[in-house]
Amino acid sequence: MNIFSFTAHFDGEESCRNHFNAERDKIGVLCKRCAHDSHYWIKSKWSYECKKCRSRTSLRSGTIMQSSNLSFLVWYKTMFLLTATKKGFSSKVITK
Ligand SMILES: [Zn+2]
Repeated sequence: MNIFSFTAHFDGEESCRNHFNAERDKIGVLCKRCAHDSHYWIKSKWSYECKKCRSRTSLRSGTIMQSSNLSFLVWYKTMFLLTATKKGFSSKVITK
């Protein structure tokens, strides 16, 4: 994937979230409270709801983004730059 196909594919926050949601579904989500592995997806809240105890798990919860305020789009751009460039880059380029 190059920068052109990347921006065409991930054109905004929602497309990044949808992609992250699909990838997380492949891995599976475990409930933090009861360890049940079956959840409903509540798109309006961007969260999973445990089918057993109804506990909510946000899309970022339990991932590297958990305690971050950055948008999914910024994370995706960063991960793209990290994998696409062999040299380092300044963090200043990300938020522009
Ligand atoms: Zn549960």
